[in-house]
Amino acid sequence: MNCSSTIYVTENLSKAPAGDIRIHDVRHPNSNALNIIKNINYPSIYKNHLSTLLIDRYMIISRTKEIAKTIHSEYPHDEPLVIVCILKGSSPFFHCLCRELSELGHPYMIEFYRMKSYEGTESTGKVQQMQELPESVVARNVIIVEDIVDTGNTLTSFLPFIKKKRPKSCKICSLLVKRLTDDSDQGSSSNVVKELDLDDKFVGFSIPDAFVVGYGLDFNEMYRDLSDIWILSDVGIKVGGYGL
Ligand code: 5GP
Ligand code: MG
Repeated sequence: MNCSSTIYVTENLSKAPAGDIRIHDVRHPNSNALNIIKNINYPSIYKNHLSTLLIDRYMIISRTKEIAKTIHSEYPHDEPLVIVCILKGSSPFFHCLCRELSELGHPYMIEFYRMKSYEGTESTGKVQQMQELPESVVARNVIIVEDIVDTGNTLTSFLPFIKKKRPKSCKICSLLVKRLTDDSDQGSSSNVVKELDLDDKFVGFSIPDAFVVGYGLDFNEMYRDLSDIWILSDVGIKVGGYGL
């Protein structure tokens, strides 16, 4: 399919916040990216829906391996972590992370939790929780796996509920965060991400303030099936997803 235009897939760690968290800042053009995914098979119904390849599958996998290694080094090996998948978007990242932890021989339990705050390309500001919290989090080390943190509304409303269950510890692991190290957004104090305690997080990539799809991330339920992360084209936005 014809998915050309600017390609951003480079790591720039120089602006990563201090501390142990290594955030890959994705915004520099890399002409290898289109070659890497040139031959992949995307559904033909997505033709012209995508404009910019932001993060390809190989970067996602290699970064996930790094995060798993960090987790493995930070938590005890003789008790299970409880890894909570926030459905639906973080599902591919969650499974990849779990697989890597299994490769490292790290014990864990898994839980799935459904929340929703987006309609179309906009945050509704209201976070809908769809079920009771799992009891397994009580007195255990918990990692909440998210696909993307944007305004931070989802996590700021969810964390107090999980903390009420008195886990031993609770950290967030998000594949993406928006705007965290983007110079153009330095003045944006409305970004709750900056107010969340970064030491409590594992983060894959910091991305520009654009609506992204793929690797579990949807636009009205469309594009979750892509293996790479893209910025939608105007055509894609106009199509409006599956309307669910
Ligand atoms: P927040 O509550 O931090 O604003 O947003 C969190 C949730 O909104 C994410 O878990 C994700 O489901 C959705 N979201 C935020 N930004 C994007 C985006 O760029 N693309 C997609 N597909 N979903 C997003
Ligand atoms: Mg999500």
